[in-house]
Amino acid sequence: MKKEIIVFLLAIFTSSLTYNAMAQTNYASRDEIPKEYKWNFSDIYSDWETWEKEFEQLTKQLDEIPKFKGVIKTDVKNLIKIQQLSEELTKRAYKVYQFVGLQYTVDTKNMELLSKLQKVQQLFAQFGVKTSWISPELLEIPEATMKKWIAENPELKDFEFELMDMYRLQKHVLSADKEKLMSYYRQSLSTSSGVYSALTTTDIQFKKITLSDEKEYTISPGVYKQILSNNYNQEDRKKAFEARYEVFAGNINTHAAIYNGVVQSGWASARARNYETSLDAALEGNNIPKEVYLNLINTVKANTKPLQKYLKLRKELLGLDKYYKYDRLINLTDYTKEYPYDDAKKLVYEAVAPLGKDYQEKLKVATSNGWLDVYENPGKRSGAFSSGVYGIHPYMMLNYDGTLDYVFTLAHELGHTMHTWYSDENQPFALHGYTIFVAEVASTFNERLLLDYMLKNTKDPKERITLLTQAINNISGTFYRQTRFADYEYQVHALAEQGKPINKAVLSGIWKELDVQYFGDVLEENQYDDYIWAMIPHFHGTPFYVYQYATCFASSAQIYKNVTEGSKKDKKAALESYLTLLKSGGNDFPMEQLKKAGVDLSKKETILAVINQFDALVDQLEIEIKKLKK
Ligand SMILES: [Zn+2]
Repeated sequence: MKKEIIVFLLAIFTSSLTYNAMAQTNYASRDEIPKEYKWNFSDIYSDWETWEKEFEQLTKQLDEIPKFKGVIKTDVKNLIKIQQLSEELTKRAYKVYQFVGLQYTVDTKNMELLSKLQKVQQLFAQFGVKTSWISPELLEIPEATMKKWIAENPELKDFEFELMDMYRLQKHVLSADKEKLMSYYRQSLSTSSGVYSALTTTDIQFKKITLSDEKEYTISPGVYKQILSNNYNQEDRKKAFEARYEVFAGNINTHAAIYNGVVQSGWASARARNYETSLDAALEGNNIPKEVYLNLINTVKANTKPLQKYLKLRKELLGLDKYYKYDRLINLTDYTKEYPYDDAKKLVYEAVAPLGKDYQEKLKVATSNGWLDVYENPGKRSGAFSSGVYGIHPYMMLNYDGTLDYVFTLAHELGHTMHTWYSDENQPFALHGYTIFVAEVASTFNERLLLDYMLKNTKDPKERITLLTQAINNISGTFYRQTRFADYEYQVHALAEQGKPINKAVLSGIWKELDVQYFGDVLEENQYDDYIWAMIPHFHGTPFYVYQYATCFASSAQIYKNVTEGSKKDKKAALESYLTLLKSGGNDFPMEQLKKAGVDLSKKETILAVINQFDALVDQLEIEIKKLKK
């Protein structure tokens, strides 16, 4: 059983500093918030007593699992029993976890909830120990026997995908003694990323600076973002940028050593497990072909002109003589309209109409019955996410602040929720969970629908410009930027594989070269530009992860194109296959699922679809701005 116990949170983490205090969202305590804007936990269990009982029962039933040790490889009846038993227990364990976890999310100062949460974590640890023998024993069953058993026993149908996938990955499982040896090194292999997070979060000392308003600012990530987005004084932005990066520059050789550690650990593990490269190791789990990765980074690198066009436009509009990296977030208009939550809900509801009545009606349910926790309250976690509870319904958390940005966050999280709901409804538990590789398709698709709807319906030119800028920044921030990052990690890891040194000079050199390839001559240089690699947590914690943001974006753009362009018949068929994707959970490899939805990520055109969309949006923005100036 390779089913890992993970918590599936699809989140957008927003800084609590962007909190925009408004009467309607500013609740002094959770009790003041009307019921319809809060989660309803009794959908999971009616009360704590029921939860306790379930917890005790689960703990007891866990002891059933080891009884099957040694007998599942000899008798298919036992295999069926263990599959069904562990599925049943996993499903219930998640419910037990979510009942506490979700309540804790909105009340993080509650120590009683915290101790309950720790209790559940112990249960999960026990679960891991008691099921650890299953995978190795399953692998002792010859592949042909397994195939035969699955064909003869319909009870195994739901587990077929997972069971057969085990054999695909078998060539990377080592012999028992080698696995044991590897296990001794498991923790030390992740030491570098541990050092990175201690240095950049726990031990970090943010710089204090004084800006043109004579006020002192501590340049934490949240304050930094605020200054870059809202401070129209370029010199202030420069100061903030330099203060942010000086912290990293002071330790830059240490950072190079840490990153080298991360890369070397990855390469050692990849080699030990018979992978050609670290990238191959990272892609194998979801069976993603390497061409997908290479197609993405190469196609985007060859098509950066639209990005440069946008930067030039920004430079002109902002009236800047020189354009720097720290000018990339500053808002083009001073638009500050407030969107009350109930209006936002209506906007999203109207916007998803092209997805059909069923989708729309479901979305109405998702926003009305205690599925959404809307407003901020003291002790509630920051950010936004959607998380499913199989057999119950998804739960979405927001910290709604009335900004346009948050209207899009609502559409985004509802995309995840609908995807989860459709999948849960149409797939058995074993196949309901979808991968990150397809997850952001549903969310970005809804954002795109919302953009279209709002552009079509607004009469305020400033709102139109803000909407277009939001969409453009979204693509440059998610698609272009993350692809540049993916390109960067690809090049750095390749150095390790070729036995070449990885140090400050090399790391900054690659960074600089990519900057030139992406931004051309639009950007002016700053002394700290080449140290930005040291600040990207993903490089250190989850190598080869960020490319998925870009591929999801491309998939979503391609599906959007299929659903909105062409003959009526084609559009209808494209919509059907998109809905099929939403219903498919994890019933196949993500690349196959996307192919069925009309997306082939190994093709150049799929990547170009986003670039063309971006280009068109920039043109549209230029037209809108000219209109405003008249
Ligand atoms: Zn998301």
